[in-house]
Amino acid sequence: MNNSSILSLKKVTKSFTSGDRKLTVLNQISFDIEEGTSCAIIGPSGSGKTTLLGLCAGLDRPTSGEVNLKGRSLSKMDENALSKVRNEQIGFVFQSFQLISTLTAIENVMVPVELRGVPYREVEKMALSLLEQVGLGDRTDHYPNQLSGGEQQRVGIARAFIHQPDILFADEPTGNLDGETGEQIEELLFDLNRRQGTTLVIVTHDRELAEKCDRTISLKKGEIVSDTATAEQNTINVEAGIA
Ligand code: ADP
Ligand code: MG
Repeated sequence: MNNSSILSLKKVTKSFTSGDRKLTVLNQISFDIEEGTSCAIIGPSGSGKTTLLGLCAGLDRPTSGEVNLKGRSLSKMDENALSKVRNEQIGFVFQSFQLISTLTAIENVMVPVELRGVPYREVEKMALSLLEQVGLGDRTDHYPNQLSGGEQQRVGIARAFIHQPDILFADEPTGNLDGETGEQIEELLFDLNRRQGTTLVIVTHDRELAEKCDRTISLKKGEIVSDTATAEQNTINVEAGIA
């Protein structure tokens, strides 16, 4: 692992057993992600993308191999240490938004930090500022069912950024949104990534979104089939006279 690597996977394997059958969903996955960069993970449905993201974010543990975040092995941490890392260093955006239906927009955004015992007024101020940044400054007291899908995902993004995570994982963040709304959500992710220097790891079906990332890792049946830097790709195209 080099100095600027924030996330490092070494021979990560994940298997599930059902009855007497063992299903290997991820097979010996290794890669490093550099701090402050954006990386897309693409691949057909069932190729292991969500499972991989869950392992990277400490939501689940590998069957074998190591996941290191900022040089610390998530695989070896106990549940308490892992939940501290998730609360302080990691943000997660879900395809299905996963807001709490009984809480308002601002309360949903405040949840991750409130859990850490930061004073209420301070958290409220941070949440309001983020909701303003995602264009929902006038919808803070609305409940999820009073918001459109795109608006709910904006709340999801504000929530993911509230503790200023070092790294943000997004699992098909625009998968449930129409094209235009999806693009606005993408803009928001990249904007916050630039402004806060957050490393982004985005699972997507959308080739255009992948091309906006610095790098694309492509999975097939639980294995990496390609790993390309977007800039390099462009350089090669230019040299070959394609671009
Ligand atoms: P993707 O996100 O690329 O569509 P997933 O990571 O969700 O793929 O799933 C990859 C494979 O792992 C699928 O075949 C899925 O059925 C299987 N899988 C995922 N989670 C579990 C689980 N908890 N138990 C058994 N099989 C699982
Ligand atoms: Mg998935």
